[in-house]
Amino acid sequence: MRHTKVKDLLNSTTTLHEVNAKGWVRTFRNNQFIALNDGSTINNIQCVVDFENTPDETLRRITTGAAVSVTGTLVESKGAGQKFEIQVTKLEILGDSDAEKFPMQPKKHSLEFLRENAHLRVRTNAFGAIMRVRSVLSFAVHSYFQEKGFVYVNTPIITGSDAEGAGEMFKVTALSFDNTPRTEDGKVNYKEDFFGKETNLTVSGQLEGETFAMALGQIYTFGPTFRAENSNTSRHLAEFWMIEPEVAFNDLNDNMDLAEDFIQYVIKYALDKCSEDLKFLEGRLLEEEKSKPQAERSEMALLDKLNFVLENNFKRVSYTEAIDILRDSTPNKKKKFNYIINEWGADLQSEHERYLVEKHFKCPVILFDYPANIKAFYMRLNDNTEPGRETVRAMDILFPGIGEIVGGSQREERFDVLVEKMKALGIDEEELWWYLDTRRFGSAVHSGFGLGFERLVLFVTGMTNIRDVIPFPRTPMNAEF
Ligand code: ATP
Ligand code: MN
Repeated sequence: MRHTKVKDLLNSTTTLHEVNAKGWVRTFRNNQFIALNDGSTINNIQCVVDFENTPDETLRRITTGAAVSVTGTLVESKGAGQKFEIQVTKLEILGDSDAEKFPMQPKKHSLEFLRENAHLRVRTNAFGAIMRVRSVLSFAVHSYFQEKGFVYVNTPIITGSDAEGAGEMFKVTALSFDNTPRTEDGKVNYKEDFFGKETNLTVSGQLEGETFAMALGQIYTFGPTFRAENSNTSRHLAEFWMIEPEVAFNDLNDNMDLAEDFIQYVIKYALDKCSEDLKFLEGRLLEEEKSKPQAERSEMALLDKLNFVLENNFKRVSYTEAIDILRDSTPNKKKKFNYIINEWGADLQSEHERYLVEKHFKCPVILFDYPANIKAFYMRLNDNTEPGRETVRAMDILFPGIGEIVGGSQREERFDVLVEKMKALGIDEEELWWYLDTRRFGSAVHSGFGLGFERLVLFVTGMTNIRDVIPFPRTPMNAEF
């Protein structure tokens, strides 16, 4: 007999004569009530064991974490909180779980402890919910772009270009450390390496993505990205997933419209498809915040916060306006910021971004037109900027509690301007010959952005540490599992 998912049993419209469910025991109460979970839903199904007619030996093996198969009738539940339960007629222990040793006890564990047990934390309510939401959001990403006719492009994970400068790179090599081939001047001779040149793990698929946009019109990537940034923050991973749309003939305003519409779509999708999981995560958050001082609690519950983002336009603010706001802000005047904003041209730190979003505007913010010299070489230089105050058509989207969630720009489409910029920054033209070809042959205005998928999952689940929204996080000094 084929087993039925717990989710389907709980959603049944009638009682059923014989059903079979398979899952893991969450708790076993009074020698009678099993709370069974199979991962199909946050909810457990209650299985009522006929303990008088079940051997003690079997009852003793119904422990938290054990895998069991239960067969019985689906009846209306007299207990509160569930419509149906299973009156068990046959119980089989599929896999024992030593109650003394199983790390996921039915009690509250710290997130740190759970991180050390990332292979088992997914058996908790919170992590089950987070990982289901993550899965649904992934699908929403594809659904949005596919509905709009974008082509999904798989850009290379091993790249031969290190020019983008988005972050520190991990080297990819097949050379031996013991007997490394050297050139005459003692440097590693990458000509003898697997690819005959130096290669790295990608930090972004943008440059390759641009070449595809200049043929297919609208493209997106969604894949793993690697940055060897040694910053141990709650928002950085060494391996994360990035979504990078790139669109021919879009200018910066179109790019901002696309990013806003996209984010609202995927959040709405999660609200529609994951309401039970999100309600659970909202409750978890409220519970957690009870122990915090009033001032540190969120102003909105999770679902309100998500709906707020759907119902309100993101505030669009130029870098120059933002600097004025920050310079006049109380924390700047009282020197509460670690980096005091004195003049135009300063790079914004996350403390400034969070001030703008959380204290000043109290909504998602799109900052645009940044100083050229704090942004990447490929960004479109604005026409009519004052000498010494050149700006580029860049935009960053800042979210409450997260900071930067999106970084994007209109790209420099003019061959001469681009080459000049590369020269000034010492970027090798030869190495990016293929990128420059897009500007040599049929160049056009185009724009795109990168959205860090885990930062999106952080926002939607209300979690605060990025290590808790990816199955097996990679961070400095940690590559367990
Ligand atoms: P940050 O300033 O937060 O380090 P960044 O400016 O380096 O971000 P971009 O190079 O613009 O980021 O990358 C695009 C997006 O990828 C960011 O907006 C963010 O959402 C995400 N991102 C960047 N670095 C990381 C990381 N180490 N871990 C997770 N997500 C990241
Ligand atoms: Mn970074």
